[in-house]
Amino acid sequence: MDLDSELSSIKGIGPKTAEKLAAAGFVTVGDVIDFLPRTYEDYSIVTPIAKLRPGKVTVRAQVEKISTRNIRWRMRVTTATLADETGKVQAVWFNQYYRETQLKNPNEEFYFSGEFGFKNGRYQLTSPSAEAVKDLPVQTGRILPIYPAAKGLKPSLTRSVLNKLRPIITMLPETLPAEIVKEQKLLSRGEAMLGLHFPESKRQADAARERLAFEELFELLLASRLNKQENSKLKGFHIPFDQEKIKEFVGKLPFKLTNSQRRALWDILCDLDKDSEKPSNLTKNEIVIPKRVRPFGDGGSPMNRLLQGDVGSGKTVVAGVAAYQASLAGFQSAIMAPTEILATQHAETLNKLLTPFGVKVALLTGSVKGEARTELYKQIASGEVDVVVGTHALFQKDVKFKNLGFVVIDEQHRFGVEQRQMLLAKSSRMPHLLSMTATPIPRSLQLTVFGDLDISTLNELPAGRKKIETKIWSPNKRAELYDLVREQLVAGRQAYVVVPLIEESETEKVAAETKFKEISKKFKEFKVGMLHGKLPANEKEKVMRDFAEHKVDILVATTVVEVGVDVPNATVMIIENADRFGLAQLHQLRGRVGRGEHQSYCYLVTTESGRPTRRLREVEKSNDGFYLSEIDLQLRGPGEIYGTMQHGELNLQIANLADTRLVARAAKSADWFIANDNLAKYPELQQSVLKYQRLTTLN
Ligand code: ADP
Ligand code: MG
Repeated sequence: MDLDSELSSIKGIGPKTAEKLAAAGFVTVGDVIDFLPRTYEDYSIVTPIAKLRPGKVTVRAQVEKISTRNIRWRMRVTTATLADETGKVQAVWFNQYYRETQLKNPNEEFYFSGEFGFKNGRYQLTSPSAEAVKDLPVQTGRILPIYPAAKGLKPSLTRSVLNKLRPIITMLPETLPAEIVKEQKLLSRGEAMLGLHFPESKRQADAARERLAFEELFELLLASRLNKQENSKLKGFHIPFDQEKIKEFVGKLPFKLTNSQRRALWDILCDLDKDSEKPSNLTKNEIVIPKRVRPFGDGGSPMNRLLQGDVGSGKTVVAGVAAYQASLAGFQSAIMAPTEILATQHAETLNKLLTPFGVKVALLTGSVKGEARTELYKQIASGEVDVVVGTHALFQKDVKFKNLGFVVIDEQHRFGVEQRQMLLAKSSRMPHLLSMTATPIPRSLQLTVFGDLDISTLNELPAGRKKIETKIWSPNKRAELYDLVREQLVAGRQAYVVVPLIEESETEKVAAETKFKEISKKFKEFKVGMLHGKLPANEKEKVMRDFAEHKVDILVATTVVEVGVDVPNATVMIIENADRFGLAQLHQLRGRVGRGEHQSYCYLVTTESGRPTRRLREVEKSNDGFYLSEIDLQLRGPGEIYGTMQHGELNLQIANLADTRLVARAAKSADWFIANDNLAKYPELQQSVLKYQRLTTLN
């Protein structure tokens, strides 16, 4: 009998139970053992009957009398009188006729665990679980683990199945290196799983959780360190840092780069030019010349960098300069955006930026079809195109680059192992990678989930940006709100109105259309546009273009406008049912305004009046994405922080990434492991680590 044994082969688990378990997704012993309790209810303390107080209680008693009667059709009540040496109490069950048989022996002692309270005119125990004391109780008289019932299983069934697996749990093999278990004073895996499913005290349950959380963090950290190690073994292309050309280019930008843009650019250009020495101090307002440049070196390891910067901090231009540098060295760049709208916009921006310098930019999305597509493929393959901007269409099989040297991926947090492999297949070496994100990563995650990446941060906005005025708005003051919007429109500005999905059943299309009708009626003298995910690509593009060119004044949209869209003339953002959005998402949406020289406004319209949520209050208070990301991590608990994660497989069940002490301990052990041990010796650990290495995106 081991973890892979089928549950149906376990003694005491009949075919009916096995079927129920299978329906909930539990086939093997390991499946059930890994099912973690949501919480615990403490029934471990036996209360003398005379001392009972309302609440969850356990009584140890004999049954004096028990009988069942029909109270109405299909409703039978079983009533028992329980007695210990201090007194008597009545217990009541509904449609549990078998209790009569179970409890018929008046000389036997039972545990009864359940709710004690005043009901039907008297104090009684209502539907308590009952088990004979001599049978080592499973459902009573102990700290009861409460399992999620979501999988259609009653917690009591889960508990009784686990009870049958107890011998296996006790014998579970250790998965962590013995030295680490010892050094970190952790419970063994077997002790931990036993403590989780059968805790004898709150402390034991806590120690069990700690051990399992440690293990998760250790695996995660090990994975990210191994990623980093693997990357450092690769050889990247050498793209020399051409000071003169870059200086000239930056000098011709329509604006002055911020200091943090300069610093980020510096990091990136040095990464591309791994052969040059990085000077330790930067002069403030220009990119300085490295002391030594070896223009034709063979290249160091490929860049694997994350550029994080709040919305509007100007990441695109940073990527653009780096792509320019790549093209100077004869390399192509690929820039991938999550949506067609965004890809189109990036292509336009980069076109303006790069074309005057002889760099050819092209756009490749799903809507480039037929002959145009074939022609574009040819140009990419021949190297005629230097910079290709697009959606994931960029990396489809039939896209062949001449010499892809630099890849940017916007609004995604990282490249997963698979994506990296696919890139390798498109290039003779691993291209340099730059991820960009406007969702700042809380510090604790920088160390763990993102530990394998080098990180550059844009922590300032371009000069002259005004703080977006943000207000929580009650839904019954809509008339005033529309007056404020009208004021802005009359002054020549534009507005967004964002609607969420209210119910699962409602489609994005309906939500947008309903609002669109209302707004069109209220703002007859203005042009209103609508954008939602179900529109065909070319219509989406047209609406966005119309809005960008101010042919549309108000854009009613779903969250498709969330990422990246840049229309500096828009100054009003209304977010309807704002309480339905996550904190990061609200901040992202708000970032669609305040992108130009005009004062901008964001109105968070609540679903109901009443005290707004902490989330909304924080967004109202702060414009700082870094601050908000830390709050977000705090507000969403351990299990939830990745609730919105779409593609990744990161599934921390127990560990809380905000637990910096445990993270630090796990980090120390991961470093020790890399220096001293060999992963191949630990096949199970290897599997888990691989899972984390596969992690693709967090959004
Ligand atoms: P994000 O970091 O959110 O992707 P963008 O790259 O879209 O930001 O830049 C936002 C806007 O700021 C763009 O219109 C861009 O041209 C402008 N911008 C970027 N850098 C600067 C700067 N240093 N000074 C002034 N405007 C800038
Ligand atoms: Mg952007």
